[in-house]
Amino acid sequence: MTNLRIGHGYDVHRLTEGRKLILGGVEISWEKGLLGHSDADVLTHAVMDALTGAARLGDIGKLFPDTDPAYKGISSLKLLEETGRLLEKRGCAVVNIDAVLLAQAPKVAPYKARMAENIAAALGIDPEQVNVKATTEEGLGFTGDGSGMAAHAVVLVEKTGDGGKS
Ligand code: MG
Repeated sequence: MTNLRIGHGYDVHRLTEGRKLILGGVEISWEKGLLGHSDADVLTHAVMDALTGAARLGDIGKLFPDTDPAYKGISSLKLLEETGRLLEKRGCAVVNIDAVLLAQAPKVAPYKARMAENIAAALGIDPEQVNVKATTEEGLGFTGDGSGMAAHAVVLVEKTGDGGKS
């Protein structure tokens, strides 16, 4: 059996006034921000969920419950670091990550490289292993009307050891 494992992550957060907009660990100046228990970084959450999927660690809601006061307002990059440590314990090394943000506005093209760098740094991998994309949904649905943002991520990991549990 191959030692390569794929994972897919998906997340959604509502946009609201009075919140900072944090995407891939980058604070973007915008009239609204994402609502959530942590910093609500939807892109980073999708990446984390893809990683936990590939490593069979369940999902991020199980790992970092939004009822836990320890995670209130926390930077999602911190949670991503912790996810990386859990993968390492399982003997899983990231091969590559591809993530896409679904947002009508603002334009995030100027920030994509920094987002990829932040994600890579949190996981201790090379920025070349991370790709961040963004798209609008042509004005359709909840991302199109500006009520929220969504993100998908797929990751490939390689099991380099049994990490104690296969
Ligand atoms: Mg989330």
